[in-house]
Amino acid sequence: MSGPVTGGCMCGACRYEAQGEPVDVRVCHCRKCQKATGAPLYARVRMPGDAVSISGPVGWYPSSDIILRGFCPACGTSLFSKRADGSTISLLMGSLDDPDRFAPTAQIWMSSKQAWVDLSGLLGYEAAPPA
Ligand SMILES: [Zn+2]
Ligand SMILES: [Zn+2]
Repeated sequence: MSGPVTGGCMCGACRYEAQGEPVDVRVCHCRKCQKATGAPLYARVRMPGDAVSISGPVGWYPSSDIILRGFCPACGTSLFSKRADGSTISLLMGSLDDPDRFAPTAQIWMSSKQAWVDLSGLLGYEAAPPA
C-alpha cells in the first residue's frame, strides 16, 4: 500500500500523518510500554522523526531519559513514543486509520512478556534489540 500513514486519537482532536517507509515495525513487551498503554503489549510503527506531522494537542510524558510518550490530552488515547533527540517517532498501531497496514517483524523485551501472550513465529529478543 502507498500514500501517507495517517491516524489519530479516539476523540479526533489529535491527528497525524507520516510520509515514507517505517524504520521498523515491532512489538515491545517491556513494562513501561505496558504501563504507557494499559495494554498487555505494545505494537508500534517507528518512523523517522522528520517524517511525521502532528496536528492538535499532544501531552508528552518522559517515561525515561530517552523516550517521551505522547497522548491526546482530551481523550487520553496513547498515540506516540518519541526519542528525546527527535530522531524517530513511533505511531501506536491501534491509532492508525488502517491498523492492518503493517505487521510487526520482531518482538522485543520477551523477558517481561505476559505469559498468555503467544506470538511464536515472530522473531524475539529477550531485551533490547541489537543496535
Ligand atoms: Zn483525543
Ligand atoms: Zn517497551
